[in-house]
Amino acid sequence: MKAFQIVEPQKPAELREVPVPEAGPGQVLVKIGGAGACHSDLHLMEAPPERLGRLPFTIGHENAGWVETLGPGVTGFAPGDPVIVYGPWGCGLCANCREGRENYCQTTGGLGGGLGGHHGGMAEYLLVPASRFLLPLGTLDPREAAPLSDAGLTSYHAVKRSLHLLGPGSTAVVIGAGGLGQMAIQILRALSAATTVVAVDTAADKLEIAKRMGADEALVSGDQAVTRIKDMTRGQGAQLVLDMVGVDPTLRMAAQMARVLGHLTIVGLGGGALPVDFLSPPHECSVAAPYWGFIPELMEVVTLAQQQKIKMLVEHFPLERAGEAYQLLHDGKIQGRAVITP
Ligand code: NAD
Ligand code: ZN
Ligand code: ZN
Repeated sequence: MKAFQIVEPQKPAELREVPVPEAGPGQVLVKIGGAGACHSDLHLMEAPPERLGRLPFTIGHENAGWVETLGPGVTGFAPGDPVIVYGPWGCGLCANCREGRENYCQTTGGLGGGLGGHHGGMAEYLLVPASRFLLPLGTLDPREAAPLSDAGLTSYHAVKRSLHLLGPGSTAVVIGAGGLGQMAIQILRALSAATTVVAVDTAADKLEIAKRMGADEALVSGDQAVTRIKDMTRGQGAQLVLDMVGVDPTLRMAAQMARVLGHLTIVGLGGGALPVDFLSPPHECSVAAPYWGFIPELMEVVTLAQQQKIKMLVEHFPLERAGEAYQLLHDGKIQGRAVITP
């Protein structure tokens, strides 16, 4: 089968011919319907060798498809079932895994397929190590639903853990209205109808899309955006600021936009650092940098999509054009999510 693989560190991934894996005991072979191109893959292609583990490996950590074959002992699924893949693969046995928080597995660190260690889904087939990582999609099309497993789940987790701050009249800011940001805007709309949602981006087309997806305001990134947030909140700042970019300028901006007792969530892996001193971020504004999300939350994300409360703006590319899709993502020319369809 064809697979899109990182072969050498700090080089773009390439299309290669590899054997179709076989499902061993407890494992499931999934025929890929869609594999989302996440900005993290661009970070991976730039990462030093020690971050990558054994090479080559197939990228693609945002996957959905149909059950192809069940390994010995697997029950509960049948060939042809449409499924979404929970991406962070834990041990299943540690305290965090037992609560469905396999992204924080105490044994594996929750590193899933496509991130080094295991092959990912940018291929015709994906070997999933345990059936508990599969959730039924029902009527959803795997080619459309794939981004729910990362862009959807990561954004959902980031919003849900801060929902207690979002009462009526509250303000939430989403910095970076790309794949993740667009999901976060829709999820904020769905979970907290009485919150004012503000999108911030450098790109005019992303701001336009953000408004279509339910943002009340869309602001160009920079000092004027900080001033506007302060104006909107009687000088107090936002209860929740989600930074989906994570570079120095957005982190600094995020700290200026947040309020006393608020919360700043760093989701973007832009490599920036947040300066912290007595006055900034504001007093008792907490900061967290969550990684992905929990299995039960993915079930909730799928439900929201089934209820048509959230929908990713998807552009499809065949596997042969995966390299082109990443180039477009790098250049800021993907409107929502590029999804590779083998
Ligand atoms: P994307 O390329 O689809 O979107 C990024 C958006 O940020 C674009 O709309 C871009 O215009 C905007 N942007 C860039 N610089 C900006 C600035 N200075 N101010 C405001 N907006 C700016 O990327 P994505 O796939 O949505 O991923 C976003 C980030 O989240 C990446 O760094 C990715 O690695 C990270 N990520 C983290 C997790 C996690 O678990 N924490 C999971 C998935 C992705
Ligand atoms: Zn990702
Ligand atoms: Zn574990």
